Amino acid sequence: MKLHFDDIGAQPIRLTVEDNSWLPSDAELDVTAVAKITVSRRNNENIVLRGELKGKYFSRCGRCGADVKSDLQSSFEYIVILGEEEIPELQDVECIEQDVNTFYVREPEIDVDGILMEQAYLDLPLRVLCSDNCRGICAGCGVNLNRETCDCSKDNSGSPFAILSKLKK
Ligand SMILES: [Zn+2]
Ligand SMILES: [Zn+2]
Repeated sequence: MKLHFDDIGAQPIRLTVEDNSWLPSDAELDVTAVAKITVSRRNNENIVLRGELKGKYFSRCGRCGADVKSDLQSSFEYIVILGEEEIPELQDVECIEQDVNTFYVREPEIDVDGILMEQAYLDLPLRVLCSDNCRGICAGCGVNLNRETCDCSKDNSGSPFAILSKLKK
């Protein structure tokens, strides 16, 4: 979805995006989410876009590969400025607001899909586990150790803990 600057008047526009049509079909992400966005005009060249994205990621446990749902929740605020970016003078750098993303567009258009996709990627957990104490997959025989035990784990003489216990003696 794209918003044209001309469509944004003095009254804020509220948008709800109920599907994930903003997610490209070849994305590595799988998400269901609802986005709520408010767009308002600050002046001729500046548009303020605020919103939140709430939903779920569908991914796989990094240890055992089980399907995992995790929360997607992101609040954001952008200032979209029509024009060329000016390189800030050094003394101005400190004045840049940290939590607000400012970006410049050459055409008077806001790429809402691009913003939602960026937020989904920014909020993506670095490592997803089905549970904090997931036991993972046995490196020896490949069984899921959350569900089964295997003979490999009985012979743990090669594990670092076995070596440690020998050292202590
Ligand atoms: Zn797991
Ligand atoms: Zn095993």
